[in-house]
Amino acid sequence: MHGIRVVALGIALAACGQQQPKAPQQEARPASAPSSSAPAPTSSQAGAPQQQAAPAPPAAGDTCASVQDAYARFKGVTEGKNADYIPALAKVDSSLYGIALVTADGRVCEVGDVQHVFSIQSIAKVFTAATVMQALGADAIEKKIGVNATGQPFNSIIAIETNEKHRAGNPFVNPGAIASVSLVPGGDAPTKWNSILGTMSKAAGRKLAVDAEIYKSESETNTRNRAIALLLKNYKVLEGDPMQTLDLYTRECSVAVTARDLAMMGATLANGGVNPLTHERVVDAAVATKTLALMQTNGLYESSGEWAFAVGVPAKSGVGGGILAVAPGRYAIGTFAPPLDAAGNSVRGQKAIELSVSCVGGNVFDTASASAAK
Ligand code: GLN
Repeated sequence: MHGIRVVALGIALAACGQQQPKAPQQEARPASAPSSSAPAPTSSQAGAPQQQAAPAPPAAGDTCASVQDAYARFKGVTEGKNADYIPALAKVDSSLYGIALVTADGRVCEVGDVQHVFSIQSIAKVFTAATVMQALGADAIEKKIGVNATGQPFNSIIAIETNEKHRAGNPFVNPGAIASVSLVPGGDAPTKWNSILGTMSKAAGRKLAVDAEIYKSESETNTRNRAIALLLKNYKVLEGDPMQTLDLYTRECSVAVTARDLAMMGATLANGGVNPLTHERVVDAAVATKTLALMQTNGLYESSGEWAFAVGVPAKSGVGGGILAVAPGRYAIGTFAPPLDAAGNSVRGQKAIELSVSCVGGNVFDTASASAAK
């Protein structure tokens, strides 16, 4: 992409949760239908969760203090640049910044612009891969798409050309995500879409919808993704009409979410596939496990190794400025801050998650924190 690289931040920690000045405190809100000052999503086709969510209780004070600390500490960071290859993303206010943490038992902590809706972009890939694994088994992803990191940018064509065994790479780069969409069961596009949006909505605990402006902007400018879809068709990776498959992929990337939605979606994975507030099972626990493994190895594209080394939690970024990070069995963090580093990962989001995880615990490689309280 562009700009600087930000991983392996090596933050020198002061006492966790004691940063001054204190970030503005926000009250926990009910999980259903977050209000938003941003334009409302414009289309809504399917995927209403079946069950009503109970009100979300607040997370423990120490946990929230750490999240507020991370928010305050990086609020002034201006490094990075909005994605601009999708014109509508370039127009998003770069100063927006929000962090939400939801524990695996549904307690919530949030600070900053957590009610602002933005496009989920590549984070949708997580839930489409989960949808495919739920329907067809994890083997389908491993055999038909691949699970290894490509080491290349998310829209790399070289990666397709050089990886003869798995042309699509893995489900979290564009070729693999387009291939995942083609694997979603359903005879026609509306059925597939119901399934894709349904998984995301159930994980979020509310009915999500496409942001029409982002969808239009990306549909008009996605020439590189069209090339990728056609190349995959050439290699017989995609069944059916590649442009119809690409359209569903573009739709899923345009779904509007908040940082809190991301955290709730991640908490569903942290909780073994069950939404902690609606108690609805979205995917099997075994599928949640495989999904988290994919996030650990491929979630931040070519920075995934550095991310695992520095932070140690499965995560997935999107060029809309969101990052979803999951501490399995414990909690998930959703961040929103549009300026991205060279790999396409939110700069402030990475920093805020790294500091939060180091304070709250949850690094999956940290044997000392494995027994710590939630
Ligand atoms: N919709 C974006 C694209 O296809 C998603 C990329 C991303 O978030 N990394 O390029």
